[in-house]
Amino acid sequence: MKNIIIIGAGPAGMTAAIYAADSGLNVRLIEKGMYGGQMTTTARIENYPGFPEIAGWELSQRMFDCVTKSGVTLTTDEVISISRSDSLFKVICRINTYEADAVIIANGVKRRKLDVPGEKEFAGRGVSYCAVCDGNFFKEKDVAVVGGGNSALEDAAYLCGVCKRVYLIHRRDEFRADEKYVRALDSFDNLERVTSHVPVRITGEDVLSGIEVKSTKTGEAHTIPVSGVFVATGLISDNDAYSEFVELSDDGYIESGEDCLTSTPGIFAAGDTRNKKLRQIVTACADGASAAKKALEYLNGVG
Ligand code: NAP
Repeated sequence: MKNIIIIGAGPAGMTAAIYAADSGLNVRLIEKGMYGGQMTTTARIENYPGFPEIAGWELSQRMFDCVTKSGVTLTTDEVISISRSDSLFKVICRINTYEADAVIIANGVKRRKLDVPGEKEFAGRGVSYCAVCDGNFFKEKDVAVVGGGNSALEDAAYLCGVCKRVYLIHRRDEFRADEKYVRALDSFDNLERVTSHVPVRITGEDVLSGIEVKSTKTGEAHTIPVSGVFVATGLISDNDAYSEFVELSDDGYIESGEDCLTSTPGIFAAGDTRNKKLRQIVTACADGASAAKKALEYLNGVG
């Protein structure tokens, strides 16, 4: 039986694992963190067909149940790099090295940092990148959310239900987020929009006590007193481990089309990690299925 390794257990990786296992391949799914990827840090998902509304953790669990039912080998490890000898790929991880005839990279993306003084110092002690995971630590406290996309507005809405006051800091006047998220902000009387402001530093002595922001219009700075800062400024590629094997775009995503082929035969890319226009759960799942199908063709010598 041919072996395939799938790197990353978000929706793309889990779908690829299900399709590959159902095709009769011996599947190892490697994940360094939580099964579900970004879904696990999303409070509610409202645009995945079949579920008018579902918690991120629950959709993750349902997908994971399908994976375990398919007889996939689950491995908790972190990929460092890939090497190759003849037609066999070696996936080198922190704990072990695993061999396979084909590899699907479905490692997703990582969060963009603010890169301002105080961010590193207070990371995990007031600065958070996951409102759903850490919001409860700030019950009845004042917090700030930075960003203007869907994630920031979702986070702000979620935190309005938990915290006393939520300052939504965005560098422009208009939000990038979908209209429904922007409209939803009007229903919260404990939300304050701080638009056309950029974060300058995160302040505090032993504990985080505020975020200094500067107006992009007047250049004036002021400090907003908060106990927590939630950063939701978007996602960036995370493909350094694979750069020797697959061609990357200027911003580090794996060059690959809808067929999930990469510049190296036998290595496929699925989900947010590849250069694509629409990054959604449903498009990640679609990639997972396509990548598994293409991998099967490659292993059968017809791809
Ligand atoms: P995003 O859409 O890229 O938004 C990032 C936001 O952060 C933008 O408003 C951006 O400002 C701001 N920003 C970037 N760098 C910054 C900096 N250094 N300082 C201050 N602000 C900064 O990222 P996202 O919200 O994480 O969403 C990522 C993807 O996931 C998107 O495709 C999104 O649609 C998708 N998503 C979908 C859903 C859903 O469908 N339910 C939910 C969450 C996320 P500018 O606007 O000025 O560039």
